[in-house]
Amino acid sequence: METNNPFGQRKITRRTALKYMGLGAALIPASWYLTGCSGRSKMDWADIKPDIENVPIDKMTYTTISKTGDRISLLGFGTMRYPTVERETPEGVRRFIDEAKAEELIDFAMTHGVNYFDTAWGYHQGESEIVTGKLLKKYPRESFFVATKMPGSAKSREDAIAIYHKQLEKMQLDYFDYYHLHSLSNDRAYERLYKEWGILDFLLNEKKEGRIRNLGFSFHGNQAFFDKLLAEPIEWDFVMIQMNYLDWKYGRVPASYMYSELEKRNIPVMIMEPLLGGRLTKVSRNVIEMMTEERPNDTPARWAFRFVGSHPRVMVVLSGMTLLDHLKENIKTYSPLEPMTDKEKEILQKAADIITTYKIIPCTDCKYCVPCPYGVDIPGILLYFNKATYDSNVPNLDGPRDAEFKRASRAFLVDYDRTIPELEQANHCINCGECIPTCPQRIKIPSELLRIDHLVQQLKAR
Ligand code: SF4
Ligand code: SF4
Repeated sequence: METNNPFGQRKITRRTALKYMGLGAALIPASWYLTGCSGRSKMDWADIKPDIENVPIDKMTYTTISKTGDRISLLGFGTMRYPTVERETPEGVRRFIDEAKAEELIDFAMTHGVNYFDTAWGYHQGESEIVTGKLLKKYPRESFFVATKMPGSAKSREDAIAIYHKQLEKMQLDYFDYYHLHSLSNDRAYERLYKEWGILDFLLNEKKEGRIRNLGFSFHGNQAFFDKLLAEPIEWDFVMIQMNYLDWKYGRVPASYMYSELEKRNIPVMIMEPLLGGRLTKVSRNVIEMMTEERPNDTPARWAFRFVGSHPRVMVVLSGMTLLDHLKENIKTYSPLEPMTDKEKEILQKAADIITTYKIIPCTDCKYCVPCPYGVDIPGILLYFNKATYDSNVPNLDGPRDAEFKRASRAFLVDYDRTIPELEQANHCINCGECIPTCPQRIKIPSELLRIDHLVQQLKAR
């Protein structure tokens, strides 16, 4: 695979080169670990405006895959978070993809150098594959790469094969550029679907027939399972891992381990969750201060994207973008990529150390757990709780009932009611357990909802 040349095609000055090479760890003050870099600044992530003006159309960084010659934009468009709109249905009000807004996003991406689009059977409850295929149809087939995935929820060999053929039909395609074994997380499920039912052989045969150009998997399991998959006598064309500066060291399987194992085997690496479902865009104030002291105008999102994009085995970084401004910022970040310096990487490692001290719930807003049959807005509630944690708005029930407790209580309850509609709040969870196996982050969803609801009820009872 051709790697991203750290200096791209551009001529650089000696000064720029020195900046890229880094100035060394010794320049980072130890006090940042504890208090942030400059004490009491009120700088917040929302104070940094993203750079979205004059998005270039011809500066995107690409990766060329040596085996196929595919030239892929470093930014890939994930289609799990298209904008949505509410519509009445016989079963009540439901959210559907807002096709006009989705089209605006896809067209902007295509005209600004993004050529990789990633969907899946389950995204937007099946609608994403249809809309993605439809919106890409107006472009020449050779001008984009498209990926979709076999769901782990297939009930039998016949069901899995029917799903696969339905995917080609839904997307109006003759072949898939990249096809995933989706979200492999446990050995038993993998053995049953892909070995006992023969779906791996089926997909390998589809590859031989040319209807799949590249076959690989996306991964959410433990280290033993990851090692087993890499030891299989299969030539994986790519592997998708969860990688960002927090998971680099603190992931269930550290991303640094998975990345280096793939690098050793020369397997191209796809990246999911570069922002951890948005968690890395709304970081705490002391982290923001560390970042802005080094690069005053860069948002936390830009830091996070530069981190993953700077690893040379990374072929594409996927981002599920809902807003045009997010797409614009991400395109600018990779047009072209400015590789990270060692000092910047060190700042992010310290940021990760700080972020892990916050007791947050590792929800990435992937929405695999929705819909809850009882209407609970699972990701909305968990993400609300994380935001309240970062904003110091989670009152300590064991602490003193002082002015700070009153302020935090009020802020928590008012924002909770504003953010989560009453019928979708945590008290509607009946602990049926249906959502538990769907969560790739292994969050004990009902327990977390119970904990949050307990807090809400205690605060309301004051
Ligand atoms: S356990 Fe609670 S949140 Fe999960 S599916 Fe059941 S009711 Fe919904
Ligand atoms: S709770 Fe789990 S499955 Fe649901 S959105 Fe969060 S990470 Fe995804």
